Amino acid sequence: MSADPPSPRIVGLSAAPTRADDVDSLAGTIGVLTDYRRVPGLDDGPAADYIAGRLEEYGYDIQQETFAVETDAGPGATRNVVGIKKGAGQGTVVVCAHYDVYGPDCPGADDNAAGVAVMLEVARALRTESLNRSVCFIAFSGEEVGLLGSADWLERHANLREEIVAAVNLDCVARGDELRVETLPQYRWMLNAVPEFPASNHQIGLGLLGGDYRRFWEYHIPAVQITDNGGYVLRHTRNDTPETLNFPLAASCTEAVTGMVRTLAATDDTTSPAVEGSVDEDGTIRYAVSEPSITHLIVDGTDFGPLASGQVTLPAGQHTVRVIAYDAAGNRGVLDLEADVPDTGRDAPGSGHRPGGVSIPWKRTEEDLKKYGMQHYVTPFVSLSYDCPGEEETGTRIDGYVDGIRIIGLEEGHIVVHAPGNHRYEVAAVAAGTVVGYDETAYLVGRMYDNPMTHYIRDSSVQEETIREDPLPLVPVACVLAASLLAIGYLFSRRR
Ligand SMILES: [Zn+2]
Repeated sequence: MSADPPSPRIVGLSAAPTRADDVDSLAGTIGVLTDYRRVPGLDDGPAADYIAGRLEEYGYDIQQETFAVETDAGPGATRNVVGIKKGAGQGTVVVCAHYDVYGPDCPGADDNAAGVAVMLEVARALRTESLNRSVCFIAFSGEEVGLLGSADWLERHANLREEIVAAVNLDCVARGDELRVETLPQYRWMLNAVPEFPASNHQIGLGLLGGDYRRFWEYHIPAVQITDNGGYVLRHTRNDTPETLNFPLAASCTEAVTGMVRTLAATDDTTSPAVEGSVDEDGTIRYAVSEPSITHLIVDGTDFGPLASGQVTLPAGQHTVRVIAYDAAGNRGVLDLEADVPDTGRDAPGSGHRPGGVSIPWKRTEEDLKKYGMQHYVTPFVSLSYDCPGEEETGTRIDGYVDGIRIIGLEEGHIVVHAPGNHRYEVAAVAAGTVVGYDETAYLVGRMYDNPMTHYIRDSSVQEETIREDPLPLVPVACVLAASLLAIGYLFSRRR
């Protein structure tokens, strides 16, 4: 069992007064940014220049990296802007925010001029401090069209990926009255670095929002997302303007992130936790760490999250196992194991069991399969959910199997981060040593947005097509009407 349930943890915090000049400075930056065009690849250069100029003014080394993007006007190019402060020692802390907007009519004040403004304020606050770890401030482009900027940056800097201790992503941080810090259970140690700040709320697990931080998760890099509770009413519309923002909320975000980066980057504790472990003959993975810390398992490229020693058993065959332990300063102990589990004739979980007694809520029905094809096509983040009526009363244990890898005593909603490819999830309800329920499903995982769910730049100025008025024979008219209705439906679905 994991040490903590992966459910939201609410932390009650006291309010701290925010300085008026911080609020003014943020409001000024947000005002400047919302005046720039920021649709990726469509005249967004001046906005990038402005951000680069600010980071340069604070003394950071600037890197600008251009990448291709599809625009409504055809192939285009956009760029990420990075400001770097070299630390005295090893490790890098990333603070990032996307500067692009959803469409040409979107001022994008909350989404995400606010995040960029907070990032620049943090850069300003830390400009004269000497830190042990390096800090990278990154303004990503292409977030709204499929997290392209973060994908490009992480692909380009493969050797830096191992170096990154933690990433803090800021996306929509100035509307509403509360900030939420979201992360995966294996990265919850990062929450210890968040100073107490007004109106904040920690969420462990997958929230509603996607964002650049999920690219970091895809590469198994610790990351948190900070976001407000302003909701979707104004976001991605022409009404996402500076007048609708809560600047003191953004100012408290600046304080929190500055404190967080200071804690993570200034530390002179660089001792990694020691990890020891092995795989038993029967495939059970066992490990121990030198200090209390958060540990998680990556097996055959899939991150299984925090699971206890002995809780996971490998099926027969060759496997690669990585055990990672984090301490509170973000130091990482890593143990790599090669396992070759002999075939002892142990039954595969699915052999002889028919679905029933326990079910996978997101499994496709026969009808869905006809409609969508044979497989689910999902993002790397899969919640191992199950539905087992009467589980508590009967003392039933649930075992989950991911590609045959058994998790004994699976918790409802446990999240895995898959490697791309085909995967299989099976769930077995076990009572008094006997399988009393079983269900299974198979799915194909791609990297986020590298799949048929392709993203487009959504031009919010596009209106519904008008229906032709010239007289036509009945059948073609019906066809045109049907096609127009489909087109209208399509346009509405694109505008969401
Ligand atoms: Zn955003």
